[in-house]
Amino acid sequence: MGERELSESVINLKGIGEKTGKLFNKCGVYTCRDLIYYFPRTYDEFKAPVHASELVEGEVCAATLTIVGSIMKRRVRNLSIISFEAVDYTGKIKMTYFNAPYLASSLKSGTTHVFRGVVRKKGNFFTFDQPKMYKPSEYDTLCGKLMPRYPLVKSLSNNTVTKAVQNAFKNAGRFDEFVPEDIIKRLGLMSYFDAIYNIHFPKNSAILEQARRRLAYNEFFLFILKLRLLKKIQEENKNTFPMMEVAEAKRFLEKLPYKLTNAQLNSYNDILSDISGRYVMNRLIQGDVGSGKTVVAFLALLTAAANGYQGAIMAPTEVLAAQHFEGFKEMIDKYGLTSLKPVLLTGALSAKDKREAQRMIKEGEVNCIIGTNALIQEKVEYKNLALVVTDEQHRFGVRQREALAGKGENVHVLAMSATPIPRTLAIILYGDLHISIIDELPGGRIPIKNCVVGTDYRNTAYKFICDQVKEGHQAYIICPMVEEGELDGVENVTDYTDKLKSVFPSDISVAMLHGKMKPSMKDEIMEAFARKDIDVLVSTTVIEVGINVPNATVMMIENAERFGLSQLHQLRGRVGRGNAQSYCIFLNTSKSDDAKKRLDIMNKSNDGFKIAEEDLKQRGPGELFGLRQSGELNFRIGDIYHDSDLLKEASVDADRILSEDPELSDTQYNVLRSTLNTKSANFVDFTTL
Ligand code: ADP
Ligand code: MG
Repeated sequence: MGERELSESVINLKGIGEKTGKLFNKCGVYTCRDLIYYFPRTYDEFKAPVHASELVEGEVCAATLTIVGSIMKRRVRNLSIISFEAVDYTGKIKMTYFNAPYLASSLKSGTTHVFRGVVRKKGNFFTFDQPKMYKPSEYDTLCGKLMPRYPLVKSLSNNTVTKAVQNAFKNAGRFDEFVPEDIIKRLGLMSYFDAIYNIHFPKNSAILEQARRRLAYNEFFLFILKLRLLKKIQEENKNTFPMMEVAEAKRFLEKLPYKLTNAQLNSYNDILSDISGRYVMNRLIQGDVGSGKTVVAFLALLTAAANGYQGAIMAPTEVLAAQHFEGFKEMIDKYGLTSLKPVLLTGALSAKDKREAQRMIKEGEVNCIIGTNALIQEKVEYKNLALVVTDEQHRFGVRQREALAGKGENVHVLAMSATPIPRTLAIILYGDLHISIIDELPGGRIPIKNCVVGTDYRNTAYKFICDQVKEGHQAYIICPMVEEGELDGVENVTDYTDKLKSVFPSDISVAMLHGKMKPSMKDEIMEAFARKDIDVLVSTTVIEVGINVPNATVMMIENAERFGLSQLHQLRGRVGRGNAQSYCIFLNTSKSDDAKKRLDIMNKSNDGFKIAEEDLKQRGPGELFGLRQSGELNFRIGDIYHDSDLLKEASVDADRILSEDPELSDTQYNVLRSTLNTKSANFVDFTTL
């Protein structure tokens, strides 16, 4: 490929100086290669103009309209405002522009333009704020085109990125194919270069889909090859920390007030047979939210401790780490588990406490280390680490997991995830040996009752929450934002909390939680909520992962339409964790039918697997990038559900190639070999490996 040109800094591109270069750096883009792999987040489709009567509130629409009446110009403080009306034979629309005096000359009563923008409704009136204006003939040529929309940072415009990408392509030569020719032919894949080009600038959605498929195949093919090669290495690693089942774990299970589900027991037995076996353990435990993964991890850590080793569990947030620590301590005390000596190590600790924790870890005074990625910092030395557990592992990068595992030699690895992947796909991705699936919920759980409602239901919901609190329960309310932002009509935790304090009687205690708070503050709030000192917690999605307060029975999600379904499912998983009936209220503030349809899926099902599949069926190709869900396997382009056929092909291809040539030593695999060896994350985001 045009290697040399692509390695050049983006600053060498026309129109990019030091300052813009820095903005690109913020996006992780340094070289021209980075730039052409900087894929659009979504596309703007220039749809055919509709009639004034067909405009849909909240959506981007175009309409061919004729300006009528006079053009009004006003000034409000330092803002100049132009407003006027435009019509077609079906209706009238009001237009407003701010600080756009240059428009004044082209706006004349009687002239016809295509106006395109977000439709709003004021009273009975449709309005356009700042719509883009086109000559009808100009719009004709744009119609049907997909324009890339890139992820941006402040001061970096979509236009700048688009131009830069175009310029980068001018210098790019051809790319060497690493996928064997016969596979490209058999699957009718687009060439690698064309695929990269068309992911930025597709002529239409059919071409976009072809480009997407090609890149998805690339990701799957490399991912699976890497995985198979990695697994081979791991399987050859002898078990240097053989462990036996311990009496303490058996006693603990007998004393527990509940029985483990069969699925939990099977997972535990899988772990026991791994750690007592010939090879080092590398197991994934997959179970829907609330299926009870923590106790399985706890059993593994207890086993390691009682066998004389250290074990560590890494959680993605401080709040979750602190919760695990508290929960573990409680079980240790309650069931007299004397061999477990826990310690918490997170970034939130004071420097002094951190040093003390590190000392205890190094000297082996503690053997169950619970924390965040503070566990993997260089300063932390372990005495005899033999087991590492990653909770909510899809939240970590492979490097983080490897770094934790690298703190000991050939340590056993247990990864836990609530990612709902159907078993058939999981087997392709992980192989059938190393995955345990917890596919049943603990008995006695009452299914969550759901409802999707509009804003007019809010007061009823507040009343309902009050009633639940009076019965001794607690509630979560989720808002998308931390504080007031640019987005209209999107609730934020800060203002919402203030509002609720005046809505609810004063004996109901309301508090807020969000990611921008100091870690120690977050811990304090979560602990207070767990102690029931807080009745209603208004939070951002920081509570999405892992939080367990079984007494909470109501979850209300504001602007529910703004979240992905899998994310909603994870959020909802915070309730329904105890024996009481729980409720989830999805507040839909959008008027669009699609939003309603999507949320209805949540209404109908509590099953994470089903939701993930349904979600997919409803997505159009243009949306595939925008709706990256948390908790799914994060390929950049490929989608394991949508592209499951390609995933299967890639799996068969990878296995065939490796069985014929395990080292990939044939010259036809030269490019493939070097591609696999590059650290470049251009192809696969290995977050989930
Ligand atoms: P997750 O799989 O989402 O991490 P947790 O491990 O947090 O779920 O468990 C959720 C709740 O279920 C906890 O309160 C836990 O004590 C409880 N739990 C776990 N296993 C069982 C079981 N077999 N029977 C009853 N309750 C259980
Ligand atoms: Mg959990």
